[in-house]
Amino acid sequence: MGHHSIDLDLDAALAPPHACPACRSSDLRPVCGEQGLVFLCPGCRRTWVSELGALLPAEQPEPVVAMPRPRSSP
Ligand SMILES: [Zn+2]
Repeated sequence: MGHHSIDLDLDAALAPPHACPACRSSDLRPVCGEQGLVFLCPGCRRTWVSELGALLPAEQPEPVVAMPRPRSSP
């Protein structure tokens, strides 16, 4: 109790996430995305990134066909 170590922190950081924060599905699947290793939830179709043991929502990849953005020129 109250015993901390770097090893435990690393284990928490490297351990796969337990469940989807959104729908609590435990069927997260690790996939390689542009952000590195992301976790795809088949339940709610969200993608998550694991940072220090916490799941954060991952940015969706840009669509292949990007719309031209209006660029204000001086
Ligand atoms: Zn989910």
